[in-house]
Amino acid sequence: MQIVNGRIITPDGVLTDHTLITDGGLIRALIPSDSAPPDSEMIDAGGQWVAPGFIDVHVHGGGGHDMMDATPEAIHGMARFFARHGVTSYLPTTMSAPAEAIVRALENVAACPQPEDGAQHLGVHVEGPYLSADFPGAQAPDILRLPDPAEYARWFASGVVRLITLAPELDGALEMVDEGVRRGIEFAIGHSGASYEQVLMAADHGVRQATHTFNGMLGLHHRKPGTLGGVLTDDRIYAQIISDGIHTHPAMVKLLVRAKGTDRTLLITDAIRAAGLPDGDYDLGNQPVTVRDGICRIANGSLAGSTATMDAVLRNVMQFAGLSLPEAIPMATAVPAAAMNLTGRKGVIRPGADADIVLLDDNVQARLTMVCGRVVYTA
Ligand SMILES: [Zn+2]
Repeated sequence: MQIVNGRIITPDGVLTDHTLITDGGLIRALIPSDSAPPDSEMIDAGGQWVAPGFIDVHVHGGGGHDMMDATPEAIHGMARFFARHGVTSYLPTTMSAPAEAIVRALENVAACPQPEDGAQHLGVHVEGPYLSADFPGAQAPDILRLPDPAEYARWFASGVVRLITLAPELDGALEMVDEGVRRGIEFAIGHSGASYEQVLMAADHGVRQATHTFNGMLGLHHRKPGTLGGVLTDDRIYAQIISDGIHTHPAMVKLLVRAKGTDRTLLITDAIRAAGLPDGDYDLGNQPVTVRDGICRIANGSLAGSTATMDAVLRNVMQFAGLSLPEAIPMATAVPAAAMNLTGRKGVIRPGADADIVLLDDNVQARLTMVCGRVVYTA
């Protein structure tokens, strides 16, 4: 397969007059178009952007589905919906829930084959229940608990957990991090009131991400930097942000990009079932959620995930932080890949990487999405 006539966004700059060649699910070569061999399978990009596919490491649902439904149809439906918005891989993300509900969701993903017509799942992000009761957000407060080795041993045994959001200040949290890091699992600080010192301590233990930075964490004080101060200043930590213009003021998104750089900031949607659907009444982890003007709230008024999509949060961060598409795109691609230890394999257009590619028009709308060399969506 060849992609011709595009503006190809690579780590070394934008290539024009080049042909991208895929084979066996991988990007094989980027060569000057006048020296490309003939190929019967050709995609004409028509002058549009050719970018790495987006990676969303924090997303609960979309297109009417929620991963806590724990059905193959839910994963399949989410995958198809995300591909329409340029996503080629993602981590279906659990909600704080009773132990059995979490295990059911894990087993469902573990047993679910990769869909033929949508984004790949890369394993599961477990968000909660080991979170601070002071920063529950939309996680049901009565279900939050302390890290329980008997419970998380089952998560580890499922083999499908890739990322865990927890509050590192909880009793037993750092022991769990040590155990998980040994198994190659990534950890994110989230729904946390950790002090600055506790954030650094967590990073010493191998925690490398912050979950939806600003939301659900202790804020800044100039003599007590707090959770946010630790996240903003410790270069070991990749910072997730919901750049939907609702969860954080645009100026705070710009501040985050300035503090962390485009190489330590990663865009997430934190989307729920209602993403892609009209306003109305939905649920999130068995809690009723009302969506008005695309904004999701539980009964007490707390924001409850988003209806954002990865293309939309990318457009927003370009506007909020004053960045071009090539400048902003790593935050939706190479940075989440790096935060998940997938550098070179995903999130980049380079020979040897998976052929996860999205064609974007000048309005940063996905026109075609390719996962591992297979076209899964065309506008
Ligand atoms: Zn959250």
